[in-house]
Amino acid sequence: MRVSLVSVLIVMVLGGCSEGGLAIGPYYIGFAGSSVSPFNGEFAYSHLEDIVALGPRVSGSEAHGKMQGKIRSVLTESGLEIREHKFEASTPLGLKPMTNIIGIVKGTKDGVIVIGNHYDTKYFPDFPFVGANDGGSTTAWMMEMARVLGPTREGYSIWLCWFDGEEAFEEWSAVDGLYGSRELVKELKETGEIDSIKVMINVDMIGDCDLGIQREQGAPPWLTNIIWYKAKELDVGKHFLPHTISIEDDHIPFRKAGIPAINLIDFRYGSGPGAHDRNWHTANDTLERVCADSLQVVGDVVYHVLDDVEAAVESGEGR
Ligand SMILES: [Zn+2]
Repeated sequence: MRVSLVSVLIVMVLGGCSEGGLAIGPYYIGFAGSSVSPFNGEFAYSHLEDIVALGPRVSGSEAHGKMQGKIRSVLTESGLEIREHKFEASTPLGLKPMTNIIGIVKGTKDGVIVIGNHYDTKYFPDFPFVGANDGGSTTAWMMEMARVLGPTREGYSIWLCWFDGEEAFEEWSAVDGLYGSRELVKELKETGEIDSIKVMINVDMIGDCDLGIQREQGAPPWLTNIIWYKAKELDVGKHFLPHTISIEDDHIPFRKAGIPAINLIDFRYGSGPGAHDRNWHTANDTLERVCADSLQVVGDVVYHVLDDVEAAVESGEGR
């Protein structure tokens, strides 16, 4: 799939390029929207189109099963080892089989950085919620991150975790929501693997065309600073806002287990007064409100902070 998409892009670029085809690489990268990292926001967006076309992806639904299949095939295509963590969640709507999917980028050093997101969409009985931004954007973004990171790397391993059951089936509470991340942390404690997790970076709702990621209360300042500094260095600092919000998400079980964790979320979906309430968890969370450029910005920043985060942990600053 990647290869065919690359060919399509090159044909398009050559078709519209008066300078001829000598500079395919740079033109191609330029077309992709960034020259600062191998992450390609257009590729991520193309995954997102496929994801949204599945319709609502509520845990346990047929579309959710197809979503799992797509994650698996992208990971296989990119050569990552796949680990699946299956469990049964007790929800207000009864027992639900759930699956966390982990793509493992094997590092040369002991230690793991977890990059997490959720791939379920919230259940609404009265309208089809496709979650282009909430659930969709990060699921697609992580698929592109799998391609970019590939099967191995120098340094810590990276676990790309697609959590199941982040959304509450009824009202958000300590027992309704975060099913996948809570269960995974429980499992990692049981196996003792929790000790190898050095840092957890969660992403959620990063596709908003008007991208503005808030600082997160409870995130270690050193980790926030590395990310905000990198954004400034890459000239995308305007998308990383100065104010702080407090939010529960899939990073919380990791934080409770003592792991430095941060949530990168734009919890101000859309622009202008009242936009967030019109878009979040509503029928308006659709493809046209998500932009490849936003996926690109977060892709570039996260790609480039990984070594800095590792260096901070190794130096003892990042604990
Ligand atoms: Zn949600």
